[in-house]
Amino acid sequence: MRTDTPQTIYRKDYTPPSYWVDTVEMGFDLDPAITRVATRLTMTRNRDSRNKSLVLCGEALELVQLRMNGKPLTKRAYTLHDGTLEIFNAPDKVTLEIETLTHPDRNTSLMGLYVSNGNFFTQCEAEGFRKITYFPDRPDVMAKYTVMLRADKKKYPVLLSNGNLIEEGDLGDGRHYAVWEDPFKKPSYLFALVAGQLVCQEEKYTLQSGREVLLQVWVEEGNLDKTQHAMDSLKNSIRWDEERFGLELDLDRFMIVAVGDFNMGAMENKGLNIFNTKYVLANPRIATDADYAGIESVVGHEYFHNWTGNRVTCRDWFQLSLKEGLTVFRDQEFSADMIGTDSGRAVKRIEDVRVLRQAQFPEDAGPMAHPVRPDSYVEINNFYTVTIYEKGSEVVRMYQTLLGRDGFRKGMDLYFQRHDGQAVECDDFRAAMADANDRDLTQFELWYSQAGTPRVTVDTHYDPVGRKYELTLSQSCPPTPGEDRKLPFHIPVKVGLLNSHGSDMPLHLEGHAQAGTTMVLELTKEKQTFVFTDVPEQPVPSILRDFSAPVILEIDYTDVELAFLMANDSDPFNRWEAGQRLAMRRMLELTRDVQDGHVLADDDGDEPVLTESFRAMLDATALDSAFREFALTLPSETVIAEQMDMVDPQAIHTVRRFLRRSLASALRIDWLVAYQSNRTPGTYSPDAASAGKRGLKNLALSYMIELDDIEAHVLAQTQYDNANNMTDRLVALTALVNSNAPGKVAALDTFYNEFENEALVIDKWFMLQATARTTDVKAVRKLMKHSAFTLKNPNRARSLLFGFCNGNPSQFHAVDGSGYAFWAEQVIALNAINPQVAARLARSLDRWRKYAPVLQGKMRAALKQVADTKGLSKDVLEVVTKSLA
Ligand code: ZN
Repeated sequence: MRTDTPQTIYRKDYTPPSYWVDTVEMGFDLDPAITRVATRLTMTRNRDSRNKSLVLCGEALELVQLRMNGKPLTKRAYTLHDGTLEIFNAPDKVTLEIETLTHPDRNTSLMGLYVSNGNFFTQCEAEGFRKITYFPDRPDVMAKYTVMLRADKKKYPVLLSNGNLIEEGDLGDGRHYAVWEDPFKKPSYLFALVAGQLVCQEEKYTLQSGREVLLQVWVEEGNLDKTQHAMDSLKNSIRWDEERFGLELDLDRFMIVAVGDFNMGAMENKGLNIFNTKYVLANPRIATDADYAGIESVVGHEYFHNWTGNRVTCRDWFQLSLKEGLTVFRDQEFSADMIGTDSGRAVKRIEDVRVLRQAQFPEDAGPMAHPVRPDSYVEINNFYTVTIYEKGSEVVRMYQTLLGRDGFRKGMDLYFQRHDGQAVECDDFRAAMADANDRDLTQFELWYSQAGTPRVTVDTHYDPVGRKYELTLSQSCPPTPGEDRKLPFHIPVKVGLLNSHGSDMPLHLEGHAQAGTTMVLELTKEKQTFVFTDVPEQPVPSILRDFSAPVILEIDYTDVELAFLMANDSDPFNRWEAGQRLAMRRMLELTRDVQDGHVLADDDGDEPVLTESFRAMLDATALDSAFREFALTLPSETVIAEQMDMVDPQAIHTVRRFLRRSLASALRIDWLVAYQSNRTPGTYSPDAASAGKRGLKNLALSYMIELDDIEAHVLAQTQYDNANNMTDRLVALTALVNSNAPGKVAALDTFYNEFENEALVIDKWFMLQATARTTDVKAVRKLMKHSAFTLKNPNRARSLLFGFCNGNPSQFHAVDGSGYAFWAEQVIALNAINPQVAARLARSLDRWRKYAPVLQGKMRAALKQVADTKGLSKDVLEVVTKSLA
């Protein structure tokens, strides 16, 4: 907490550390009220540094003792202010002994050492280690750690840290100890310890090399029936990284621990990954298909960090995407490979692009827009963003698109050959990709240095006499904060051309060898024309196949062409995309109608092209159910809002519902058939094929419930009563709650009572009410009074508050401004408890400048109210200041 203006950190100001740390020995006397930490560091002066003094970071610590080379340091030998401890005139070789005290049970920030449900956990990324001891807490300082944990044996029977357990024993007087040694050098952000009453599922696993490793998943007692999926996902991850990238687990022991209070998804601490329970615990009773998929991808993500993040780490936090973008790319590829089929891969791709459009495009167009490699920050925790993660992954994916799978693998191999054991920059990764493939990727750097989503526009010209087809691509990128003008990007644009029968034409690009039916065009200038020869008829172009670059594609299709692409494109991504464009166009038209005061009547729902394309898709039973589910889902309210110059949340909501109701009634029989034929009787399995069927069946239910008639009520109630898994259960309950079904209140109650002791399910219970149509601010306030609600648990706070502020736009943006007043209150309340979570909620008003003047005024007032609050964390202050700027 601070009152002065927080400092901005700039990438250009990077200087190497003045001292390296060779070894770290730590002793913890764990006690929730006061934990004593004794640290011994051996350090060596860095000859490359001009800074003569030894600099350590520390935050919220009580310094008990400080000794250098065996002698206590007098108060005159160092300064200590603003979280920095500076020792002057230190010798070249230093042994520093530090004793500090912390108060884990009062640590509600969940950074550093904290207590959750009576057990100890740590979170050190990005800058949490400095809340445990004084240290050069920056990722380019890598050291070997030996850690001794001491604690009460009954209360804390399990004592874990990074690496290998080398000793354990009794201390008498009811206490015991364990010593852990991590054989690998690591930055402080990868340090972890866990202590408490935990149990584990463990397995011995044999690597491809024949070496045997121990795998453990640690949870609270009573949750051992929910660890199998995480364990399976871990084993699949290990095998996948060996097969796809030739990367082997380098430790003899790999542990995952689940904790109920956690700021983010999970953390890749060396050998001791700590996870939000949400990404570990699953069984059919409590977890949905989406939960199962989320666990697989996060377990993969953290495991893959062991190479991309831990073995090769970041020089500084501006390089965060070096490890995050790359590791998201790896986890996306892993999940796709686990599904295995081509259509499954495509569905995964569509899912990932949906996330990008829903969250990253708005970020890139708003006040917090920043490049994949930012140039400055105030609080690094604010930069764990969809841009760093998801756009970063798209940037990595573009290397693979440009270089091919084999070329990408060569680049990865060279990257590890050059940089294993180092802390490096995004530029080093790009250089490895370029050098391994003998390619010039200089211009590609702009993807790292320029923010904003590029727009690519398409112009075409067909010459029937010369049988030539010209494709002209132009690019531009709107200004973002601090960047008025942009240089052209290096954009891979995958294209294909369809003939009138809907099949792909062979492609002859002028001056190039024949390249099959899909090829990657490289757009590097502001405007470029690509000429195809031997084109027998006017084609329908399919541009940006597989979403080959994170851009907005502007192309004029007629409704008929879109319907044609939706029915025929061989590229499943563009097939889906065509349907989305068709629906988006219609929704924007209707929104304008509503804004013009037109009341939508039933015959406004006469949408021949859209309805018939949807019918065809619904009846195309040869296609994967999962694909059909996605193709039949209308763009979300948030995605529609991004398409409007002035957002009208109520009009968008009215129109989307209206269109859903029209489609429900026009295709009533088809929905019912899809519902009946996609049941998954028998034992629940979360595999992609079964999940896809449930997805389509449940989408059908969600359309049918729009009609709010007895037939739909009975269907939802029956599904609710008979479901043997959480996916079907939750969708049915959501359907009931968003209808006037007589059983809805009773269902909410029985659900609560049945799952009272399953925190993750109670989160769902809050979330589904937070996002329900009829839930207004008053209803949310009432839910906050529920005995199960607390702001202190991030998952719970997210389910209700984020659910409402981000997931219920038409209610949150109520014209009286009550949503904004509520938002300000909650940001301020959370700020005092957990700045990171508060700063996330603070982002809900990012796009305030896109709304009608009346709403804008109220949003600005709420933002100002937060900005003017005393004792604001720099996390929240940075977000609201940038919003108001
Ligand atoms: Zn990560």
